Amino acid sequence: MKILILGVNGFIGHHLTNRILADTDWSVYGMDLADDRLGKTLNNPRFHFIEGDIAINREWIEYHVKKCDVVMPLVAIATPKLYVEDPISVYNLDFEMNLNIVRHCVKYHKRVLFPSTSEVYGACADPEFKEDESFLVVGPIQKERWIYSCCKQLLDRVIYAYGTRGHLDFTLFRPFNWVGPRLDSLDVAKEGSSRVVTQFIAELLMGRPINLVDGGLQKRCFTYVDDGISALMKILENKDDACKHQIINIGNPYNEASVKELATLLKKIFMEHPEHKKDGAYSEIREVPSESYYGKGYQDIYTRKPSIEKARKLLGWEPKVGLEDSLRMTLYSFLEENKGAIC
Ligand code: UDP
Repeated sequence: MKILILGVNGFIGHHLTNRILADTDWSVYGMDLADDRLGKTLNNPRFHFIEGDIAINREWIEYHVKKCDVVMPLVAIATPKLYVEDPISVYNLDFEMNLNIVRHCVKYHKRVLFPSTSEVYGACADPEFKEDESFLVVGPIQKERWIYSCCKQLLDRVIYAYGTRGHLDFTLFRPFNWVGPRLDSLDVAKEGSSRVVTQFIAELLMGRPINLVDGGLQKRCFTYVDDGISALMKILENKDDACKHQIINIGNPYNEASVKELATLLKKIFMEHPEHKKDGAYSEIREVPSESYYGKGYQDIYTRKPSIEKARKLLGWEPKVGLEDSLRMTLYSFLEENKGAIC
């Protein structure tokens, strides 16, 4: 099988590529703006990388959609701070650019595995979000945070419509707060605009305060990347066509924690690390209002728990890595990779 991965150097892209090359005889064709997460993978003869931009290298993309069997368009802005700071860029990249790719898949009759998001459920009140039943609930237009959710939802609907009209073979997958090595760059976190786990790790490394937005009682379910990648591998295998035209949550409902619990746990893990045991002083954990942290356009999501019944049934998949292990492996890999970089 030949797989085209756009955004191959991203968090999901590079972990998936490594697993594909290690466990199968498939080939990966990948494009990204950079290659810093790919390391030795670049030397693998079954990996074909080009440095490029999906907004510019359109001919390369069209040619490779035609050439490959499965397409995974993983390029997107997926950081809440950017949803409120630059909603137009979120729309252009996450919706328009990706729609172009989806249309190529329609034109060349290719299977697409498209990353939807847990964010599409928005402020849904269900205790567990179900792919085929839950309502997708977003806030008013002035709350610009929701542009990401809306872009992804509309694209989900367009893909679904192409699929059910017989023009596209698709699977939509919805990651729920995946964490793991190389989640986000620490440079971005230094500026204070990263996703929560990387942000807290960066604060701990720099000895800056950890900010609990609006008290930190909001909850997320954190999924270890290796578990998530195992689910994606099963979707790629697509035994008996089980995933055709399906929407599948990929998350770990057992790893639920409030942002406050997350901060406390990460701080504990950091303090246990051999190189930081004797630091003496550690980041304080403090509360900040969302308006001063994110700006007026922000609105939060208080609970976000996946139902994984469909993933269990269709993929025979179950997440295995618990919360503390997931955070420990994530934090320690950041420490390993950034030795001496921040003090
Ligand atoms: N958050 C926080 N402090 C930070 C960064 C994020 O309290 O320094 C909160 C944020 O308000 C949200 C949760 O952590 O409730 C998860 O944020 P993330 O950026 O990871 O994305 P989300 O899960 O909302 O898509």
